[in-house]
Amino acid sequence: MFSWHEKDWNSLAARLQQLPHALLIQGPPGTGIEAFAFTLAEALMCERRTRQGWACGACQACNWFAQGNHPDFRLVQPESLDSTEAGEGAEGAEGGEAAAPAAKKEKKKSDQIRVEQVRALQDFLAIGTHRAGNRVVLVRPAEAMNVTTQNALLKSLEEPPPATVFILVTSHPARLLPTVRSRCQRIVLGQPDTQQALDWLLTQDPQQPLSRDDWGQLLAQGGGAPVAALEARQHEAARNGFVRLLRDGRPEVLAAADATQGLPPALLVAWLQRWVYDLLRARLGTPVRYHLAEAPLLAQLAARCDPIALTRLLRSLGDSLRLAEHPLNARLFAEDLFIRYREVFVVVASSVKRRGG
Ligand SMILES: [Zn+2]
Repeated sequence: MFSWHEKDWNSLAARLQQLPHALLIQGPPGTGIEAFAFTLAEALMCERRTRQGWACGACQACNWFAQGNHPDFRLVQPESLDSTEAGEGAEGAEGGEAAAPAAKKEKKKSDQIRVEQVRALQDFLAIGTHRAGNRVVLVRPAEAMNVTTQNALLKSLEEPPPATVFILVTSHPARLLPTVRSRCQRIVLGQPDTQQALDWLLTQDPQQPLSRDDWGQLLAQGGGAPVAALEARQHEAARNGFVRLLRDGRPEVLAAADATQGLPPALLVAWLQRWVYDLLRARLGTPVRYHLAEAPLLAQLAARCDPIALTRLLRSLGDSLRLAEHPLNARLFAEDLFIRYREVFVVVASSVKRRGG
């Protein structure tokens, strides 16, 4: 749980006894909304909650919850998250190699919540609870359910058994069916301000501390989301390589696709999206938002870009981000991104002499 969620937590903790049977917890990505959901689930399972509503961390229920085998708790998540820790990787800073090439050889695990996973809940819900307390189903991220799966969940949401709480977590509520959304009470979590975010980041990774300025840059790259800034730090070397590719303007498509091979396609799209966003801002003469250190470079490149093409690309990258979760061929997907990126540059017919070109 993060300091910037304290107010939201307090108001929720005050009414833990009277929670509706379904909650939709939403907030910006990279701000720890999943950690919030897990804290809530743990508190609901605990049999000796503190007066402030926290789980005691010591009772039988808390022990089971910590080990991931409380009989009245179900975590519904995509297979691809099965081996990861809760909390959006906030704790995973030291284990940064987890996402390294070794995982590439394994059969790709699904990023979707399968309909069978949700149907299996019916059996879980049909029997009484093992302990006399609550029963909790945590679905994360909720947008990993497709329409069929969401409809399957709807059945359980419509006729919930007593003492059962569904917690759905998402940063993309628009991807949920209106019928699902309407059956949940919404809890909208906010984003920390820069000061709060930097204060928190400065307590992270004491072995290799970063200055406030360095964290400020990573925070900007993460769009102001501190957990995203922490992840940005893990990918810093790869991101610097990405920026090197774009430094001279139009990148060679094949070389660029080679250089970014192994990066998760969604991450590549997100980086390109932010880069293009900053290019557009530079083109329009407004301060860049994500790449503070590269502002002068962006200004130079932007002068060679067509603002309309930038706007068009930015819009289409939003669609690419959805496709990036399941690209048929990651390599072709990357090539296509770079081909489209090259098109934002205005090609001058008469050959302009470039230094060192
Ligand atoms: Zn407890």
